[in-house]
Amino acid sequence: MGLIKKLPVYAEKIPGGSIVTTSVEAILNHGQASSIWYLLFGTACCAIELMCTGAARYDFDRLGMIFRASPRQSDLIIAAGTITKKMAPRLRRLYDQMAEPRYVIAMGGCTIKGGPFYYDSYAVEKGIEHIVPVDVYIPGCPPRPESLLEGCLMLQKKIKQQKLADWQ
Ligand code: SF4
Repeated sequence: MGLIKKLPVYAEKIPGGSIVTTSVEAILNHGQASSIWYLLFGTACCAIELMCTGAARYDFDRLGMIFRASPRQSDLIIAAGTITKKMAPRLRRLYDQMAEPRYVIAMGGCTIKGGPFYYDSYAVEKGIEHIVPVDVYIPGCPPRPESLLEGCLMLQKKIKQQKLADWQ
């Protein structure tokens, strides 16, 4: 009975019985959202905050966020830092090597729009959305670990609402 009380909101208990109904979509989305393995794409100072989020004080792992070193094993890229024009094709290649469904979090002003390099640099990309599609933007210079955690919770919410028909 205690277990049934802890079921997520999208699972329904038939009144008076111990049968629970849900949908395949809801179960898959719940599993996906609770176990997001991320590829760290840290290129500048924002990556320090990302690494800090993964350490003991903020404990990224409790959200099911596990760091992987290979795009083949990753569901998510967390891009944190300046993206130069030389790095852009590498970022796109890593994204293309990930299996569907895949997600991108853009962390910090440089990743989102080029940051302080927007006007005067010939070498910096003026926005990650020109390279890969983005699911969650986290503004800041740099964003604190709390902001990154909130961004990951937003991504989890988005994943829980995705439709099976959208999977490729
Ligand atoms: S947004 Fe700020 S902290 Fe982040 S990489 Fe750019 S300059 Fe560094």
